[in-house]
Amino acid sequence: MTEATYPAELIRSAPKAELHVHLEGSVGAETLLALAEDHGVQPPARDVEGIRDWYSFRDFPDFLERYFFVCRLLKRREDFQRVAYDYLLTAHHQGAVHVEFHISSSYHTQEVGLDWSVVLEGAVAGCEQAEQACGISSLLIPDLSPHLGAASAQATMDAVLAQLHPRVVALGMGGPSDRWWDEDFESAFDRARAAGLRTVCHAGEHGPAKEIRHAIENFGAERIQHGIAAIDAPDVLGLLLAKKIPCDVCPASNFALKAVDDLASHPLPRMVEAGLTITLGSDDPPLFHTDLLNEYRIAWEYGQLREAALFDFAKNSITESFATPEAKERWLTS
Ligand SMILES: [Zn+2]
Repeated sequence: MTEATYPAELIRSAPKAELHVHLEGSVGAETLLALAEDHGVQPPARDVEGIRDWYSFRDFPDFLERYFFVCRLLKRREDFQRVAYDYLLTAHHQGAVHVEFHISSSYHTQEVGLDWSVVLEGAVAGCEQAEQACGISSLLIPDLSPHLGAASAQATMDAVLAQLHPRVVALGMGGPSDRWWDEDFESAFDRARAAGLRTVCHAGEHGPAKEIRHAIENFGAERIQHGIAAIDAPDVLGLLLAKKIPCDVCPASNFALKAVDDLASHPLPRMVEAGLTITLGSDDPPLFHTDLLNEYRIAWEYGQLREAALFDFAKNSITESFATPEAKERWLTS
Protein backbone atom coordinates (compact mmCIF):
# COMPACT_ATOMS: atom_id res chain seq x y z
CA MET A 1 0.00 0.00 0.00
CA THR A 2 1.30 3.45 -0.91
CA GLU A 3 1.71 5.80 1.98
CA ALA A 4 -0.64 8.75 1.37
CA THR A 5 1.03 12.13 1.18
CA TYR A 6 -0.03 14.77 3.68
CA PRO A 7 -2.30 17.22 1.79
CA ALA A 8 -0.49 20.29 3.14
CA GLU A 9 -1.80 22.84 0.65
CA LEU A 10 -5.39 21.58 0.81
CA ILE A 11 -5.36 21.86 4.60
CA ARG A 12 -3.72 25.28 4.52
CA SER A 13 -6.26 26.66 2.08
CA ALA A 14 -9.30 25.09 3.76
CA PRO A 15 -11.31 27.80 5.54
CA LYS A 16 -10.85 27.28 9.25
CA ALA A 17 -11.10 29.02 12.60
CA GLU A 18 -8.92 28.75 15.67
CA LEU A 19 -10.95 28.64 18.87
CA HIS A 20 -8.26 27.76 21.40
CA VAL A 21 -5.30 30.13 21.39
CA HIS A 22 -4.17 32.46 24.18
CA LEU A 23 -3.23 36.01 23.22
CA GLU A 24 -0.37 36.09 25.75
CA GLY A 25 0.84 32.66 24.67
CA SER A 26 1.02 33.66 21.01
CA VAL A 27 4.01 36.00 21.38
CA GLY A 28 6.86 34.86 19.15
CA ALA A 29 10.58 35.28 19.84
CA GLU A 30 11.04 38.44 17.73
CA THR A 31 8.14 40.20 19.42
CA LEU A 32 9.30 39.10 22.88
CA LEU A 33 12.72 40.65 22.25
CA ALA A 34 11.16 43.87 20.96
CA LEU A 35 8.80 44.14 23.94
CA ALA A 36 11.66 43.50 26.38
CA GLU A 37 13.67 46.29 24.77
CA ASP A 38 10.70 48.67 24.82
CA HIS A 39 10.20 48.08 28.53
CA GLY A 40 13.89 48.01 29.51
CA VAL A 41 13.58 44.42 30.70
CA GLN A 42 16.52 42.01 30.48
CA PRO A 43 15.35 39.32 28.03
CA PRO A 44 15.95 35.67 28.94
CA ALA A 45 18.21 35.32 25.86
CA ARG A 46 19.87 37.75 23.49
CA ASP A 47 18.62 36.51 20.14
CA VAL A 48 15.71 34.77 18.46
CA GLU A 49 17.37 31.36 18.59
CA GLY A 50 18.07 31.81 22.29
CA ILE A 51 14.45 32.74 22.99
CA ARG A 52 13.26 29.71 21.01
CA ASP A 53 15.48 27.52 23.18
CA TRP A 54 14.17 29.24 26.28
CA TYR A 55 10.65 28.41 25.06
CA SER A 56 11.32 24.82 26.18
CA PHE A 57 10.55 23.57 29.63
CA ARG A 58 10.62 20.54 31.86
CA ASP A 59 7.24 20.72 33.55
CA PHE A 60 4.12 22.79 34.11
CA PRO A 61 5.63 25.22 36.70
CA ASP A 62 8.51 25.78 34.29
CA PHE A 63 6.00 26.54 31.52
CA LEU A 64 4.05 28.96 33.74
CA GLU A 65 7.24 30.84 34.59
CA ARG A 66 7.82 31.48 30.88
CA TYR A 67 4.18 32.25 30.18
CA PHE A 68 4.06 34.85 32.95
CA PHE A 69 7.38 36.36 31.88
CA VAL A 70 5.70 37.13 28.55
CA CYS A 71 2.57 38.39 30.34
CA ARG A 72 4.69 40.86 32.29
CA LEU A 73 5.90 42.41 29.03
CA LEU A 74 2.34 43.35 28.08
CA LYS A 75 1.72 46.66 29.79
CA ARG A 76 0.55 49.22 27.28
CA ARG A 77 -2.37 49.41 24.90
CA GLU A 78 0.04 49.17 21.96
CA ASP A 79 1.61 45.99 23.37
CA PHE A 80 -1.74 44.20 23.24
CA GLN A 81 -2.44 45.66 19.82
CA ARG A 82 0.90 44.46 18.51
CA VAL A 83 0.59 40.85 19.71
CA ALA A 84 -3.03 40.51 18.54
CA TYR A 85 -2.16 41.91 15.11
CA ASP A 86 0.99 39.77 14.77
CA TYR A 87 -0.80 36.56 15.62
CA LEU A 88 -3.80 37.25 13.39
CA LEU A 89 -1.55 37.80 10.39
CA THR A 90 0.23 34.53 11.14
CA ALA A 91 -3.11 32.74 11.45
CA HIS A 92 -4.31 34.30 8.17
CA HIS A 93 -1.28 32.85 6.37
CA GLN A 94 -2.28 29.46 7.71
CA GLY A 95 -5.74 29.72 6.21
CA ALA A 96 -7.58 30.87 9.34
CA VAL A 97 -10.56 33.08 8.58
CA HIS A 98 -11.50 33.57 12.23
CA VAL A 99 -9.70 33.47 15.60
CA GLU A 100 -11.13 33.55 19.13
CA PHE A 101 -8.41 34.80 21.49
CA HIS A 102 -8.47 33.75 25.13
CA ILE A 103 -7.10 36.60 27.25
CA SER A 104 -5.91 36.15 30.85
CA SER A 105 -8.17 38.88 32.20
CA SER A 106 -7.72 37.88 35.87
CA TYR A 107 -3.95 38.06 35.53
CA HIS A 108 -3.92 41.52 33.96
CA THR A 109 -6.56 43.12 36.16
CA GLN A 110 -6.04 41.36 39.49
CA GLU A 111 -2.42 40.26 39.65
CA VAL A 112 -0.84 43.17 37.79
CA GLY A 113 -3.53 45.77 38.37
CA LEU A 114 -3.81 46.91 34.77
CA ASP A 115 -6.94 48.75 33.82
CA TRP A 116 -9.03 46.36 31.70
CA SER A 117 -9.52 49.17 29.18
CA VAL A 118 -5.79 49.02 28.35
CA VAL A 119 -6.03 45.31 27.56
CA LEU A 120 -9.37 45.53 25.79
CA GLU A 121 -8.68 48.60 23.68
CA GLY A 122 -5.28 47.26 22.68
CA ALA A 123 -6.59 43.83 21.70
CA VAL A 124 -9.53 45.34 19.83
CA ALA A 125 -7.20 47.71 17.96
CA GLY A 126 -5.03 44.74 16.92
CA CYS A 127 -8.11 42.84 15.75
CA GLU A 128 -9.34 45.82 13.73
CA GLN A 129 -5.91 46.45 12.23
CA ALA A 130 -5.64 42.80 11.15
CA GLU A 131 -9.15 42.79 9.75
CA GLN A 132 -8.31 45.81 7.62
CA ALA A 133 -5.01 44.28 6.50
CA CYS A 134 -6.24 40.82 5.48
CA GLY A 135 -9.94 40.46 6.28
CA ILE A 136 -9.47 38.02 9.15
CA SER A 137 -12.29 37.94 11.70
CA SER A 138 -11.58 37.78 15.44
CA LEU A 139 -13.34 37.74 18.79
CA LEU A 140 -12.15 37.89 22.40
CA ILE A 141 -12.72 35.54 25.35
CA PRO A 142 -11.60 36.95 28.72
CA ASP A 143 -10.43 34.02 30.88
CA LEU A 144 -10.74 33.79 34.66
CA SER A 145 -7.84 32.29 36.65
CA PRO A 146 -9.39 29.91 39.18
CA HIS A 147 -6.22 29.63 41.29
CA LEU A 148 -6.80 33.27 42.33
CA GLY A 149 -10.14 32.30 43.88
CA ALA A 150 -13.79 33.21 43.42
CA ALA A 151 -13.52 36.72 44.88
CA SER A 152 -10.88 37.56 42.31
CA ALA A 153 -13.10 36.08 39.59
CA GLN A 154 -15.91 38.42 40.64
CA ALA A 155 -13.59 41.42 40.64
CA THR A 156 -12.45 40.45 37.15
CA MET A 157 -16.06 40.20 36.05
CA ASP A 158 -16.73 43.69 37.44
CA ALA A 159 -13.99 45.03 35.16
CA VAL A 160 -14.97 42.98 32.10
CA LEU A 161 -18.69 43.66 32.33
CA ALA A 162 -18.17 47.37 32.92
CA GLN A 163 -16.66 47.72 29.45
CA LEU A 164 -18.27 45.19 27.18
CA HIS A 165 -17.28 45.45 23.56
CA PRO A 166 -18.92 43.67 20.60
CA ARG A 167 -15.71 41.66 20.10
CA VAL A 168 -15.94 40.25 23.64
CA VAL A 169 -18.12 37.25 22.94
CA ALA A 170 -17.65 34.79 25.79
CA LEU A 171 -16.27 34.18 29.26
CA GLY A 172 -13.70 31.44 29.70
CA MET A 173 -11.68 29.93 32.49
CA GLY A 174 -8.13 28.62 32.63
CA GLY A 175 -7.14 25.21 33.86
CA PRO A 176 -8.88 24.03 37.04
CA SER A 177 -7.40 24.47 40.48
CA ASP A 178 -8.38 22.91 43.81
CA ARG A 179 -10.47 26.01 44.44
CA TRP A 180 -12.95 24.91 41.76
CA TRP A 181 -14.54 22.43 44.08
CA ASP A 182 -15.39 24.51 47.12
CA GLU A 183 -15.64 28.10 45.93
CA ASP A 184 -18.43 29.75 43.98
CA PHE A 185 -17.31 30.34 40.41
CA GLU A 186 -20.79 29.56 39.08
CA SER A 187 -22.07 33.05 39.75
CA ALA A 188 -19.30 34.57 37.60
CA PHE A 189 -20.57 32.50 34.68
CA ASP A 190 -24.17 33.41 35.57
CA ARG A 191 -23.23 37.07 35.40
CA ALA A 192 -21.57 36.54 32.04
CA ARG A 193 -24.65 34.87 30.57
CA ALA A 194 -26.92 37.57 32.01
CA ALA A 195 -24.79 40.11 30.13
CA GLY A 196 -25.25 38.18 26.89
CA LEU A 197 -21.86 36.40 26.82
CA ARG A 198 -21.33 32.78 25.80
CA THR A 199 -19.37 30.48 28.13
CA VAL A 200 -16.42 28.12 27.65
CA CYS A 201 -14.00 26.43 30.02
CA HIS A 202 -10.69 24.56 30.15
CA ALA A 203 -11.23 21.11 31.66
CA GLY A 204 -10.02 17.52 31.47
CA GLU A 205 -6.49 18.37 30.37
CA HIS A 206 -4.24 17.14 33.20
CA GLY A 207 -7.15 16.50 35.53
CA PRO A 208 -9.93 13.93 35.59
CA ALA A 209 -13.06 13.82 33.47
CA LYS A 210 -15.19 15.05 36.36
CA GLU A 211 -13.79 18.52 35.58
CA ILE A 212 -15.57 18.39 32.23
CA ARG A 213 -18.87 17.46 33.86
CA HIS A 214 -18.42 20.27 36.41
CA ALA A 215 -17.64 22.81 33.66
CA ILE A 216 -20.78 21.82 31.75
CA GLU A 217 -23.20 21.40 34.65
CA ASN A 218 -21.97 24.16 36.96
CA PHE A 219 -20.50 26.74 34.60
CA GLY A 220 -22.70 26.07 31.57
CA ALA A 221 -19.67 25.64 29.31
CA GLU A 222 -20.67 25.47 25.65
CA ARG A 223 -17.19 24.43 24.49
CA ILE A 224 -14.47 22.62 26.41
CA GLN A 225 -10.81 23.49 25.96
CA HIS A 226 -8.87 20.20 25.81
CA GLY A 227 -11.38 17.72 27.30
CA ILE A 228 -9.08 14.80 26.51
CA ALA A 229 -9.89 13.05 29.81
CA ALA A 230 -13.41 12.38 28.51
CA ILE A 231 -12.16 9.42 26.51
CA ASP A 232 -11.75 7.33 29.67
CA ALA A 233 -15.10 8.27 31.22
CA PRO A 234 -18.13 6.91 29.33
CA ASP A 235 -20.57 9.02 31.35
CA VAL A 236 -18.75 12.28 30.51
CA LEU A 237 -18.32 11.21 26.91
CA GLY A 238 -22.09 10.60 26.84
CA LEU A 239 -22.72 14.05 28.29
CA LEU A 240 -20.56 15.76 25.66
CA LEU A 241 -22.31 13.81 22.91
CA ALA A 242 -25.81 14.37 24.26
CA LYS A 243 -25.26 18.10 24.58
CA LYS A 244 -23.23 18.27 21.35
CA ILE A 245 -20.45 20.12 23.16
CA PRO A 246 -17.22 20.35 21.16
CA CYS A 247 -13.70 19.98 22.50
CA ASP A 248 -11.01 22.41 21.32
CA VAL A 249 -8.04 20.06 21.35
CA CYS A 250 -4.33 21.00 21.21
CA PRO A 251 -2.16 17.88 20.79
CA ALA A 252 1.25 19.63 20.80
CA SER A 253 0.35 21.43 24.02
CA ASN A 254 -0.82 18.19 25.63
CA PHE A 255 2.45 16.53 24.72
CA ALA A 256 4.67 19.46 25.80
CA LEU A 257 2.91 19.72 29.16
CA LYS A 258 2.97 15.95 29.63
CA ALA A 259 -0.82 15.51 29.68
CA VAL A 260 -0.05 12.64 27.27
CA ASP A 261 3.08 10.46 27.19
CA ASP A 262 3.65 10.86 23.48
CA LEU A 263 1.81 12.12 20.41
CA ALA A 264 1.12 8.63 19.12
CA SER A 265 -0.89 7.82 22.25
CA HIS A 266 -2.91 11.08 22.19
CA PRO A 267 -6.63 10.24 22.47
CA LEU A 268 -7.59 12.44 19.49
CA PRO A 269 -8.33 9.51 17.12
CA ARG A 270 -10.39 7.79 19.81
CA MET A 271 -12.29 11.02 20.47
CA VAL A 272 -13.11 11.23 16.76
CA GLU A 273 -14.09 7.55 16.73
CA ALA A 274 -16.40 8.15 19.71
CA GLY A 275 -18.24 10.80 17.70
CA LEU A 276 -17.10 13.90 19.57
CA THR A 277 -17.04 17.21 17.76
CA ILE A 278 -13.41 18.32 17.64
CA THR A 279 -11.66 21.52 16.68
CA LEU A 280 -7.89 21.95 16.70
CA GLY A 281 -6.01 24.82 18.31
CA SER A 282 -2.40 25.69 19.03
CA ASP A 283 -2.99 26.96 22.63
CA ASP A 284 0.33 28.82 23.18
CA PRO A 285 2.06 28.13 19.85
CA PRO A 286 5.64 29.44 20.28
CA LEU A 287 5.90 27.90 23.73
CA PHE A 288 4.97 24.51 22.32
CA HIS A 289 6.98 24.94 19.10
CA THR A 290 3.81 24.53 17.10
CA ASP A 291 1.25 26.43 15.03
CA LEU A 292 -2.27 25.80 13.82
CA LEU A 293 -1.22 23.90 10.69
CA ASN A 294 1.18 21.76 12.70
CA GLU A 295 -1.75 20.57 14.83
CA TYR A 296 -3.43 19.27 11.65
CA ARG A 297 -0.19 17.63 10.60
CA ILE A 298 0.13 15.95 14.00
CA ALA A 299 -3.41 14.60 13.67
CA TRP A 300 -2.44 13.10 10.32
CA GLU A 301 1.01 11.86 11.23
CA TYR A 302 0.59 10.57 14.77
CA GLY A 303 -3.19 10.15 14.97
CA GLN A 304 -3.34 8.43 11.58
CA LEU A 305 -6.38 10.55 10.77
CA ARG A 306 -7.10 10.98 7.08
CA GLU A 307 -8.11 13.90 4.93
CA ALA A 308 -11.85 13.71 5.67
CA ALA A 309 -11.28 13.93 9.43
CA LEU A 310 -8.99 16.94 9.01
CA PHE A 311 -11.59 18.71 6.87
CA ASP A 312 -14.16 17.93 9.56
CA PHE A 313 -11.93 19.65 12.13
CA ALA A 314 -11.73 22.71 9.89
CA LYS A 315 -15.48 22.74 9.29
CA ASN A 316 -16.23 22.19 12.99
CA SER A 317 -14.00 25.10 13.92
CA ILE A 318 -16.24 27.37 11.88
CA THR A 319 -19.61 25.92 12.84
CA GLU A 320 -18.72 25.81 16.56
CA SER A 321 -17.27 29.32 16.62
CA PHE A 322 -19.17 32.25 18.09
CA ALA A 323 -19.15 34.13 14.80
CA THR A 324 -22.48 35.20 13.29
CA PRO A 325 -24.50 32.67 11.26
CA GLU A 326 -23.99 34.88 8.20
CA ALA A 327 -20.21 34.85 8.58
CA LYS A 328 -20.17 31.07 9.10
CA GLU A 329 -22.26 30.54 5.99
CA ARG A 330 -19.93 32.77 3.98
CA TRP A 331 -16.81 30.90 5.12
CA LEU A 332 -18.31 27.47 4.64
CA THR A 333 -19.31 28.22 1.10
CA SER A 334 -16.14 30.11 0.12
ZN1 LIG B 1 -5.59 26.80 26.72
